[in-house]
Amino acid sequence: MTQRIPVVENILNANDRLAEENRARLDSAGVFAINLMASPGAGKTSMIEQTLPRLKDRLRIAAVDGDIATSIDADRAAAAGALASVQINTGGECHLDAVMLQGALNQLDLTQFDLLIVENVGNLVCPASFKLGTHKSILVASVPEGDDKPYKYPGMYRGVDALIINKIDLLPYIPFKMDYFQRGVEALNPGVITFPISCRTGEGLDAWIDWLLQNVKR
Ligand code: MG
Ligand code: ZN
Repeated sequence: MTQRIPVVENILNANDRLAEENRARLDSAGVFAINLMASPGAGKTSMIEQTLPRLKDRLRIAAVDGDIATSIDADRAAAAGALASVQINTGGECHLDAVMLQGALNQLDLTQFDLLIVENVGNLVCPASFKLGTHKSILVASVPEGDDKPYKYPGMYRGVDALIINKIDLLPYIPFKMDYFQRGVEALNPGVITFPISCRTGEGLDAWIDWLLQNVKR
């Protein structure tokens, strides 16, 4: 009797091994890396645009942007102060994987950076399944998406190290029950550190920047 291993499991195991290699490369170069995930339009690129100017005098930062077709986000990261920005066109794939990040790392002299910000493809399903080798996974949720997202996309909320709730300036205009949202999050990811912010007004960004700085230095 031959043992049958599902194809999906094999793919994920190979991905995990490569993610470990990516992590080892980042560690040996002294680079702290974050994986920003979100649905399209939640504000990943806006977060990067708000984060870079606040840190670029203190840290050497590179950005890697995953996108299905364009280089718009990588261009925005460069304009906001990333010393290097690499675009990964996924060729239709709806998530980044460890092979794609490896390709991006190959284009960077990692010894020149302290922080690597990876912007995943906008998608609330599969990015959670593909480890990249980054140190922290960050989910950017946003008020207009609705307060039911933790209930509908539990896989995404379960594994992340920090949660950003963007566009809180829209709370007065949108029926978003913060209690309901946070109960859903708590059931999946108890105690996860959460940053309610507005990229438009700047509210809440200081706490996020402090957290990120502490983690880079650790
Ligand atoms: Mg973007
Ligand atoms: Zn995907």
